[in-house]
Amino acid sequence: MKKSILLIITIFAALCGMAANYTITSPNGKLVVTLSCSGGKVTYNVALDGKEFITASPLGLVTTVGDFSANLTDHDFKTEPVTFSYDSKVLKRSHIDVSATRAVLGLYQNDRPAIDVVFMVKNNDIAFKYIAYPQPNPKTTEPFVCTVVENEKTFFNFPNGTTTFLSPQMKGQTGWARTAPSYEQPYFADDQPGKNANGLGFIFPALFRVPNGWVLISETGVTSAYCASHITCEGNASYKVAFPLMEDFNGNGTSAPGIPLKGETPWRTITLGSTLAPIVETTVPWDFVEPLYSPSKEYTYGAGTWSWIIGFDESVNYQEQKKYIDFTADLGFVSQIVDNWWDTQITRDSIEILAKYAKQKGTSLCLWYNSNGYWNDAPQGPKHIMNNIIKRRKEMAWMKSIGIRGIKVDFLGSDKQQTMQLYEDILADANDFGLEVIFHGATLPRGWERMYPNFIGSEAVLASENLHFGDDFCRQESYNATLHPVIRNSVAAMDYGGITFNNYFNTTNDTTMWGGHRVTSDVFQMAVAVLFQCPLNHTALYYKVLPKEQWKLDFVKQCPTLWDDIKFIDGYPGKYLIMARKSGGKWYVVAINAQKEPLKRTLNLDFIIGGVTVYADDANLNGSMKQVTPKKNMLQITVPHDGATIIVGNSK
Ligand code: CA
Repeated sequence: MKKSILLIITIFAALCGMAANYTITSPNGKLVVTLSCSGGKVTYNVALDGKEFITASPLGLVTTVGDFSANLTDHDFKTEPVTFSYDSKVLKRSHIDVSATRAVLGLYQNDRPAIDVVFMVKNNDIAFKYIAYPQPNPKTTEPFVCTVVENEKTFFNFPNGTTTFLSPQMKGQTGWARTAPSYEQPYFADDQPGKNANGLGFIFPALFRVPNGWVLISETGVTSAYCASHITCEGNASYKVAFPLMEDFNGNGTSAPGIPLKGETPWRTITLGSTLAPIVETTVPWDFVEPLYSPSKEYTYGAGTWSWIIGFDESVNYQEQKKYIDFTADLGFVSQIVDNWWDTQITRDSIEILAKYAKQKGTSLCLWYNSNGYWNDAPQGPKHIMNNIIKRRKEMAWMKSIGIRGIKVDFLGSDKQQTMQLYEDILADANDFGLEVIFHGATLPRGWERMYPNFIGSEAVLASENLHFGDDFCRQESYNATLHPVIRNSVAAMDYGGITFNNYFNTTNDTTMWGGHRVTSDVFQMAVAVLFQCPLNHTALYYKVLPKEQWKLDFVKQCPTLWDDIKFIDGYPGKYLIMARKSGGKWYVVAINAQKEPLKRTLNLDFIIGGVTVYADDANLNGSMKQVTPKKNMLQITVPHDGATIIVGNSK
């Protein structure tokens, strides 16, 4: 990391009462963060191209060793340019160049260092965190070198005319078998601010449409060293960072995080633009975090299968899993999740036989685990292994010995620091045994793909299981798909478990069994392989229900799960979305439409050279495949409600 100090301003004992302003300007000069110190308090606001995106918003921490949200003195301020790059196989871009302005505002209280606020300002992203310093202990000569952060007074205030795209925070110990919170509430598009959902606020990431563009707020770099946070509405369009509820995790662990002194918080992130492009394309969740350990082996990725989504618990038996191994191998896929109850419905001995068979066929198995513990009533086994280091490591050694690829751990149900410790412990132990990790019923991953090299992705979304559970969710499938790449999947890999050619989410593929009725087209299902990003992508394909047209299956078989680049083209969350991902020198452009009226657009494909393959739906959602040569790079598309268009061509 190259650093050169450009500017150091030191203002000795200047009182915040004397109102000082500091500006942090992005490398291209267009994004400006203004810090204001007045009356002992610090606020920030954000403007892009001279237009205000975030209005004056307080900063500060209240800890057990001091209230660092008031009586602050701005002591020193420095900025410096920062440039570096990094590579990753598993993110939305494979090579990422970061250019930012780093700024530190040092704040004193009683003539001593209290907190620093550290900012990283890119052209369309802001990350900021607090560093807190040791404080004197009036009872001894030794200072306090640790504290509990009781309240984080970090606000995000939006201008008048802002609408929200938010998903409610779930109350701990509610939901099925007391497994909440699990980030499994819908996002409500274009809602009015000023509400607090069920009184508990909203999860990260949170999208706001401000008068001059869009703002996505989230957080990253959350480890066992802090809790995961969410936001509460404090009136009008004012949102504040909030800590987990005491109910989470069956009441175990603290709500307020503890930190050492000197110590720091995770990064809060703000991504903004006049269009959605900076949000869909952002890499800020990974830019300012570091790998926390080295990979114990070279992890591999690809597509996979998952019997549970169609066959439910009954599919978790030896014969069916063996058939799925054949199917997975025939597809050329690399992985298969053996879901809940395998410990009793298949048994460990038979899992060993299946794992060996999978290896012979050139594929591999991931095994499901219940996270608990004593924090949920979910009956599914195997239980009481992943929460205990002795049992967990013994189990992982067994998995390594029989060639298991990874684990899917479900029902973690908390954002508390203690639960972050469990996530981190599972990830670190799994790496020791060369296992990849997927979390379900889980929190939002916050920078984890880069921090934990064996982390694959998490659910933390209303995922495909809800397509199985009912028709209402099936009718929302295209609506939700226009939201996820912009909001949830923009900040972290999403183990959604979609892509199917079943008309009904059951094994008979009709109404004789329970299972939601799919209303989206086959081309839409193919588009999901591009829309939703997860480096090990377990699909809902079923070996008995495959499309008549070979090109549909061929597309899904060859569609990459690792991407080099991403491009937002057009869209409005909740209505339609047109975006592209690049892999292996090919661009995959996808367009989906959740609106009743057909979506008609003329696309400029100037990033593609030569002819393209177009997969498109007619008005009745019947798909076709054509080879087309765009005229002067321009291509007209019409996407019907619940349909899709996919365009594949060579990158310029
Ligand atoms: Ca779930």
